[in-house]
Amino acid sequence: MIVARAWRGRRFAVLGLARSGAATVQALVAGGAEVMAWDSDSGRRQDVAGVTIADLDTLDLAGFDALVVSPGVPLNTHPLAARARAAGVPVIGDIELFAHARADLPPHKVVGITGTNGKSTTTALVTHICKEAGVPTLMGGNIGLPILAQQPLPEGGVYVLELSSYQIDLTQSLDCDVAVLLNVTPDHLDRYDGLDGYAASKARLFAMQAGPHVAVVDHRAEAEHDVLSGAADGLPILFIDDVPLDGRAGWPSLQGPHNLHNARAAVAACRVLGVEDRVIDRALRSFSGLPHRMERVATIDGVTYINDSKATNPDSAAPALAAYPRVHWIVGGQAKGNDLDACAPAFGHVVRAYTIGEAGPRFAAILKDEVPVEEAGTLDAAVRLAAAQAIAGDVVLLSPACASFDQFRDFEDRGRAFRAAVDALGKEVGA
Ligand code: ADP
Repeated sequence: MIVARAWRGRRFAVLGLARSGAATVQALVAGGAEVMAWDSDSGRRQDVAGVTIADLDTLDLAGFDALVVSPGVPLNTHPLAARARAAGVPVIGDIELFAHARADLPPHKVVGITGTNGKSTTTALVTHICKEAGVPTLMGGNIGLPILAQQPLPEGGVYVLELSSYQIDLTQSLDCDVAVLLNVTPDHLDRYDGLDGYAASKARLFAMQAGPHVAVVDHRAEAEHDVLSGAADGLPILFIDDVPLDGRAGWPSLQGPHNLHNARAAVAACRVLGVEDRVIDRALRSFSGLPHRMERVATIDGVTYINDSKATNPDSAAPALAAYPRVHWIVGGQAKGNDLDACAPAFGHVVRAYTIGEAGPRFAAILKDEVPVEEAGTLDAAVRLAAAQAIAGDVVLLSPACASFDQFRDFEDRGRAFRAAVDALGKEVGA
């Protein structure tokens, strides 16, 4: 567990007792803090020990050192967050608590990675490269185990943190040795004041940096949103697009131009950390990728099935389409915007589209002038329809450009359903 000495005797209110909230409570209690906690789910309230359970909605927040909330709580609309701010109580998350604990950890480095798309891939890649270099490394934040639940690293360790903009909003003092911004494209706009507000939230990762630390930045995000405007004077800056790369043919798990961008960012970060190019080259070749991101599921009758369920917005689906010449595209779910414009440059790669979920009818209407399209409704039906149309050499791609919550628990559940549908197909063909 990761704990700060500074928490002793302090008072924290914790809202949300799911995975990271429960880990937060345990760490705060272990650090000698006084904790009041609440979750609207009574089952979760019973799962935590050593804290006072109190309905925070009716509690006077004055006198607390901070309100700790999980990133799922919408700060812009939640009444409790407004009450805390009015009472002058900082609203923070577990990444800020990690920042408090850094002074008590053995000497280490922190890499913070944000962006609309590619965070998990880049975080996993930086972690993999550092581990290949023999550096004690762990990843946390928006990926893997809650950061405060993990074992502190020995001296010289690297903490690689994937940070969503929500997590950055709940963080005030994380000084990353290397801060990476991969890209800024429309997403989560329900929680921000337009695209600029969303970009400003991500830009705070640089504003929090101090000292001889390094910013690794996407050219376009800087040109369009001025994301470095709050950065410390003299902060060294590396532009992702300028990082030279070769050998990509030998990187089986880094397919598509977007993954070259992610690889450039990871290489830049690892060079700053002092990893040798020779080790980086080896690690890029042995990286195994992450499930649900351009994941090859099977090849049946010469047709390859790719699970890119994590593509929850059009900007992330576009590079997946562009990566293959002949695509049967399964698209739809709970749309985050009204159009598929970001995918339009890749429509030439689409042999046929199969729409699913809530956005299915609307997407079918948008696509019908561009490509042949069928309204499949469900994922199972889409897989079957696509299998019936595809010929050897084609790719059937689930890259839905939508959230999954209309038909699935989350994107992982959707990806597993795709795999199961493809498995079933394989068995029938084999039978
Ligand atoms: P995140 O953690 O930011 O959601 P992931 O690495 O999980 O990012 O990738 C999410 C989706 O976005 C995947 O479908 C992937 O193919 C796509 N993607 C990955 N990197 C990029 C990028 N740099 N630009 C656009 N899309 C990307």
